[in-house]
Amino acid sequence: MGKLQETELKFLKGVGEQRFKSLVANLELRTFHDLLYYFPYRYVDRSHIYTISDLHGSDMPMVQIKGHFIRFSEEGEGAKRRLVGVFSDGKRMMEVVWFAGAKFITSTYKPGVEYVLFGKPAQYRNVWSMAHPEIDEYKPDAPPEGLQGIYSIPDIMRKKGFSSRFFKNIVGALLRHPAMDSIEETLPPSLLKKLNLMPLREALTNMHVPVSPEKLAKARERLKFEELFYLELNILRYALKRSMSSAGRVLKTIGDNFNNFYSNVIPFDLTGAQKRVLREIRNDVRTGRQMNRLLQGDVGSGKTMVAFMTLLMAVDNGYQGCIMAPTEILAGQHYDSMKEWCDRLGLEIRLLTGSTRAGERREIHDGLISGRVNLVVGTHALLEEKVTFKNLAIAVIDEQHRFGVAQRARMWRKSEIPPHVLVMTATPIPRTLAMTVYGDLEVSVIDELPPGRKPVTTWLRYDDNRMEVNRHIRNQLNEGRQIYIVYPLVKESEKIDLKSVEEGYERIMGLFPDVKVSIVHGKMKPDEKDHQMGMFVRGESRIMVATTVIEVGVNVPNASVMVIENAERFGLSQLHQLRGRVGRGADKSYCILMANHKMSADTRKRLEIMTQTTDGFLVSEADMKLRGPGDMEGTQQSGIAFNLKVADLARDGQILSLARREAKEILDNASKLSAEEKNIFSRELHSRFANVVDWSRIS
Ligand code: ADP
Ligand code: MG
Repeated sequence: MGKLQETELKFLKGVGEQRFKSLVANLELRTFHDLLYYFPYRYVDRSHIYTISDLHGSDMPMVQIKGHFIRFSEEGEGAKRRLVGVFSDGKRMMEVVWFAGAKFITSTYKPGVEYVLFGKPAQYRNVWSMAHPEIDEYKPDAPPEGLQGIYSIPDIMRKKGFSSRFFKNIVGALLRHPAMDSIEETLPPSLLKKLNLMPLREALTNMHVPVSPEKLAKARERLKFEELFYLELNILRYALKRSMSSAGRVLKTIGDNFNNFYSNVIPFDLTGAQKRVLREIRNDVRTGRQMNRLLQGDVGSGKTMVAFMTLLMAVDNGYQGCIMAPTEILAGQHYDSMKEWCDRLGLEIRLLTGSTRAGERREIHDGLISGRVNLVVGTHALLEEKVTFKNLAIAVIDEQHRFGVAQRARMWRKSEIPPHVLVMTATPIPRTLAMTVYGDLEVSVIDELPPGRKPVTTWLRYDDNRMEVNRHIRNQLNEGRQIYIVYPLVKESEKIDLKSVEEGYERIMGLFPDVKVSIVHGKMKPDEKDHQMGMFVRGESRIMVATTVIEVGVNVPNASVMVIENAERFGLSQLHQLRGRVGRGADKSYCILMANHKMSADTRKRLEIMTQTTDGFLVSEADMKLRGPGDMEGTQQSGIAFNLKVADLARDGQILSLARREAKEILDNASKLSAEEKNIFSRELHSRFANVVDWSRIS
């Protein structure tokens, strides 16, 4: 580690012990390095000086105004007590307001002296004012300031007197500190030159104190590239290692089962998208290179069908296949539909989960080893050491985001020759994110729903609309339909959640006393959960009050209304998944998002997206733009740390593509790397991902 990482900020001029504690506690800024990478979140142009008559509108940016104070006076009582200064720019007047530090202000700033104020103007009853501005004495000869960085400061620190000015000062001290000479370049000179990237030290300096807007742009570009480059280098390294080590089974023929199933078993034609994806898969598995493919498709787009037909490719060539799902319920549903198909084809399929009895389990194990069992559906139980196959050729993993990369890797070891892997996800993610999270996978997309699907109508409603919502539920019940009412997840610690589901259950039973109501939440025993769920699936209960445990899986075509309580607490993809539970059979289906009037503008925007589109890709793209990729479902468990500081996967697609191309080229030509290049790459991969790189295994 370098000097910057080791030196604590308390040793920086202007910080001191007290402030150091606050920086660590509130912003996790401990070392010189931490501060160096604590970038302004925006910049304001300080080269221009405004007059008061220039001010307009309700959302002015931070501006500078030159003038002098005419007088100060203290106004208001108690908590509202404040110091008000009347400030004139020579033509017009405005107010400057302080809620603390009156003594310091009146003793520091003198009427008549020319100052430059810097702050955000606001207008109350036709009078412009500025609260707690930065104030400098006006020096006509001083060079005009250019772009100034504005640092994000938590309220709790602001109250203790931390200002953007403070950050500007300590960052200034840091940039002049001798320790800065020890900065190590994180990209090799060859790459900097080739791509015309700004050197690291210059880039860091410009991020804090931009010489010009152009330099700031170059600085950003360099830091973004660097982040994305190492992200890609790391991902592609795994992919390369694997593709070198693993040949897959060659599945030459499309045989009897596949054709028989297609012509005689399914009562419909495949959609164009399903056919295209099956061709993509087929082209992979017949080459002899191991397939690692991600299959994306909205809920109900027919992925399961594609998965089954893919498994038939294994069987038709004399091999076995398996499909792994994240929950017992989902595994059970896959099994039920596939069992019916297998019976008609004369194939042996089995279900293996955590609750499979010991005797049956042994029998399945034997069947898999002997090859008597063609296909197996299961949960994590499939990953146990004891489960081995005679000749597994294809493994399908459903709902990827619940499994990590490590678990996927365990699948590869289930067979001497690693199986082809098809990963299915119903949480569509934008292309840039897919390239990163699943950077080592090829991607197939089913972007077409089977014919006859009716888009779900989505409404945003509030507490004062409950009467209307209840009437709507009653109407749908009268039509013979079933209803879901979903609450946020019940977690160990969240007593309130449990209370709200249970209260909701009571309330619904009171409102609709003539129908049976099921309740399902995460704190129930599995038996009870299955019982409640079963009643709803069979149509005995007409309303299901549940937490998000129902998100994955359940298929009840007769359900036509999905009410989501506290919708503001759900992520967009999650809302989309829940919405996918309806619109599967009924003529017309509805998703009703119940929210609180008091939500933030961003949250409202998120929920409004749901009312505007039913396209999962549009939903997920919008979600990523609003929340940033780190918070999206599918990324947390993916095994990749998303601590991007500068790059934004939602917006930097182009730089990402460039970074990926460069990373690929470097790996392809690893044998030609210089010692210096290898050193830098190894050091950076290690410090970013704690990886040890053995270049000899790559080149
Ligand atoms: P997914 O797994 O993508 O959510 P499924 O494969 O479970 O979707 O398909 C949802 C429903 O649509 C199932 O009932 C399935 O039988 C049906 N289905 C699948 N493909 C087609 C198709 N091409 N035409 C009509 N119905 C289809
Ligand atoms: Mg599915």
